[in-house]
Amino acid sequence: MALIVQKYGGTSVGSPERIKNVARRVASWQAKGHRVVVVVSAMSGETNRLIALAKEMQTNPDSREMDVIASTGEQVTIGLLSMALMGIGVKARSYTGGQVRVLTDSAFTKARIVSIDEGNIMRDLDNGYVVVVAGFQGVDGAGNITTLGRGGSDTSAVAIAAALKADECQIYTDVDGVYTTDPRIVPEARRLESITFEEMMEMASLGSKVLQIRSVEFAGKYKVKLRVLSSLEELGQEGQGTLITFEDDIMMEQPTISGIAFNRDEAKLTVLGVPDRPGIAYQILGPVAEANIDVDMIIQNIGHDGMTDFSFTVPRGEFARATAILDQVKGHIGARQIAGDNKIAKVSVVGVGMRSHVGIASKMFRTLAEEGINIQMISTSEIKISVVIDEKYLELAVRVLHKAFDLDQAPA
Ligand code: ASP
Ligand code: MG
Repeated sequence: MALIVQKYGGTSVGSPERIKNVARRVASWQAKGHRVVVVVSAMSGETNRLIALAKEMQTNPDSREMDVIASTGEQVTIGLLSMALMGIGVKARSYTGGQVRVLTDSAFTKARIVSIDEGNIMRDLDNGYVVVVAGFQGVDGAGNITTLGRGGSDTSAVAIAAALKADECQIYTDVDGVYTTDPRIVPEARRLESITFEEMMEMASLGSKVLQIRSVEFAGKYKVKLRVLSSLEELGQEGQGTLITFEDDIMMEQPTISGIAFNRDEAKLTVLGVPDRPGIAYQILGPVAEANIDVDMIIQNIGHDGMTDFSFTVPRGEFARATAILDQVKGHIGARQIAGDNKIAKVSVVGVGMRSHVGIASKMFRTLAEEGINIQMISTSEIKISVVIDEKYLELAVRVLHKAFDLDQAPA
């Protein structure tokens, strides 16, 4: 018998029929002898609808009141799911974030969880209830309603699982697990049995939009095993999903590479002909950081004749703003020219196996070279190698890398 926290996202509770399906799935876990806590999102589209309503009152809505409004979506779902459970003979009880007492700081619309009282939940579980908790919300020390930021229900579920010392936190969504890459680009992409927290963070931040990245970080920190599962599969025919866990827990021989991640949402800026002297990187990137623009990759070329070139990437939506900033600093730093390219993409190979294998980078570069794909920038971490290429070769690059690293073959 295990204590399980299950989280169902907006699509999974998107209609009364789907909520009844969730109830049947929850009931089947309880019938197997498990104690179940369910964390739910608002019905799909509901949070957007609430935010749009708020914006009809104030173009820049007051953040405290915004949370009062946005948190109601989840409150509806917990009541509906509890009723659906009772309707099939399961004892159920709902709690808002404030009622559990998910205590947060007071950063409205992006609050952080400080602590969780597990008393109510534990008592109800002991009395045979399924406990249904509203995701995405909490309460600050003064009793104000807070929310955790878009997609925050994943983090609610992980935090509750950590507080209850649950055996597993299951994230039910509309895909049946984490894949080696996007199956829309590579039909041979495979579902991963398991992946480490670190790899998942690299994959998620690179665009595999399965989980809120903050929840994965949280799970790693508080040692909560996470499992991504589909809520759309027939009861009794469910797959195992993907387990996100510790490296030591992954028993089988690790494949060297776990997946190919990519991101189209990038743009490159280059400052040509800047004097090669101390402080130049700061003079270029300081104003960009001050404007709150996130810089990803940075390259400074080898200088010659006292001059050098400097390139970096930013989110594509910030391209115009970043260009304007550079045009301003150009004269001041004595740069010759500013060049930009917003048709680039980033492709990364990710895998903890990289720590113990050599030759991953050279294999990646050779594979791309054989297709005539030019690499514009490279960056590496202990478990990831990323390259920036022309966007028009992105899909080809992902396909050939997926094949080169044998990701279409089940691990032996
Ligand atoms: N309902 C919230 C949102 O749409 C939280 C969540 O679904 O995780 O962002
Ligand atoms: Mg979500």
